[in-house]
Amino acid sequence: MRLTFLGTGGAGGVPRFGCDCAACQRARTNPQHVRRPCSALIEDNNHKILLDAGLMDLHERFQPGELSAIVLTHYHADHVQGLLHLRWGKGDPIPVYAPPDPEGFADLFKHPGILDIRSLAAFETLELGDFNLTPLLLNHSKLTFGYAIAHRGGDRFAYLTDTVGLPRESEDFLRQWGAHEIAVDCSHPPADEPPQNHNDLLAALNMIQNSGAKRGWLTHLSHTTDRWLMDNPDSLPASVAPAMDGQVVDLAGNFPL
Ligand SMILES: [Zn+2]
Ligand SMILES: [Zn+2]
Ligand SMILES: [Zn+2]
Repeated sequence: MRLTFLGTGGAGGVPRFGCDCAACQRARTNPQHVRRPCSALIEDNNHKILLDAGLMDLHERFQPGELSAIVLTHYHADHVQGLLHLRWGKGDPIPVYAPPDPEGFADLFKHPGILDIRSLAAFETLELGDFNLTPLLLNHSKLTFGYAIAHRGGDRFAYLTDTVGLPRESEDFLRQWGAHEIAVDCSHPPADEPPQNHNDLLAALNMIQNSGAKRGWLTHLSHTTDRWLMDNPDSLPASVAPAMDGQVVDLAGNFPL
């Protein structure tokens, strides 16, 4: 299986409107450092599954029928806003799987258009082609699922944002499950106070280490995290890297892509 980070930014993105900090200036001069709404595409030969829908150009990136499904972590705007446009498209219904959040994003529930919105249950595995996605409960201000993504070929990738740390049952699940690679929320640079609602870098590194994964990716980065990493370039363990928009992770399973 292959995972592509389509967006690696927090709400507000990088560069942030009106901000002249070093990270925002860098992103303006070098588009490689732009961070769009946090989302990813997982795929094999037969299926493409979109994780989160905050990108506003989904209707241009994908053709009708191209996506087997959209899987949402939660209903905060930066993770669903692209659906507000996509829903008015034509073609077959697109399955959208999401946490059972009765509030959700009210206008989407009222006018789903071509979206076929279905609720998942925590720890109940969703099968999509050769992919198995198990929703894990996260710690966030809205009901949020991370996903333990297994491919029939053996690859295992855990995608865990937005969160601060993990509830015990998700941490236990993850350790037993054995992720090869993991992507975690890293909204803030190291903080003195325990972070609320989103990981700081210390909490992100903790999650990666506790999971036992070989490689960790930081995502949902803000301009303040970027700025801190610019000032402290050698601060990350060799097995951890900030993900970049457009970055592709090929997992070395025995099932060819
Ligand atoms: Zn978010
Ligand atoms: Zn900035
Ligand atoms: Zn959120």
